[in-house]
Amino acid sequence: MECHKTQEILRVLDEEYGTSKEGFFYGADWQLLVAIMLSAQSTDKQVDEVLPGLWKRFPDLRSVADADISEIEDQIKSVGLYKNKAANMKKCCTQILEEFGGKVPMDLEKVVTLAGVGRKTGTLFLADAYGIPGVTVDTHVFRISHRIGWAEGNTPVKVEQELMKVLPEEHWNRINFQLIYLGRSICTARKARCGECPIARWCEKRL
Ligand code: SF4
Repeated sequence: MECHKTQEILRVLDEEYGTSKEGFFYGADWQLLVAIMLSAQSTDKQVDEVLPGLWKRFPDLRSVADADISEIEDQIKSVGLYKNKAANMKKCCTQILEEFGGKVPMDLEKVVTLAGVGRKTGTLFLADAYGIPGVTVDTHVFRISHRIGWAEGNTPVKVEQELMKVLPEEHWNRINFQLIYLGRSICTARKARCGECPIARWCEKRL
């Protein structure tokens, strides 16, 4: 795709969806990481609803590390995959305390050693917590990048590499939530509503 088309798409995405994400309120780095972990396979609404009770019951890393997994499960029951997430939360918070002195590490290679933290969660965390540029490729970013014509790779890691070449660095952190908004409302997995799409003029797969 020509560079000027990409510039136009990025300009319109900034106009439509803004340049910073509206998010949860997080008091500490580990709370942000936990919130991102909980959001996998769950809606923002589900996560928003459990967070106040979760922070009240578990106000610090030590309280999570020392908890019974069943107590954590009780607090997060309404989010998807809650049993796995509860076990990972306990392990991850224990690791942060014991291996990283109570602070979530600032580089991806270390963050992904934490329980329940893959490349996607780690990249998103580093971007949101520390502003470290990174492209997070989830299902929406993967699908729409192919439709737009930005990427051809068949794995999230390949698409991540392609997007880092195509997009200016200042857009890396925000492309994720912008394409999530577009992917939930207009360019959905089931149907691309190209007639309503703000970037249709420049998209290679528009219908
Ligand atoms: S024009 Fe269609 S295929 Fe392209 S991004 Fe918009 S909705 Fe998706």
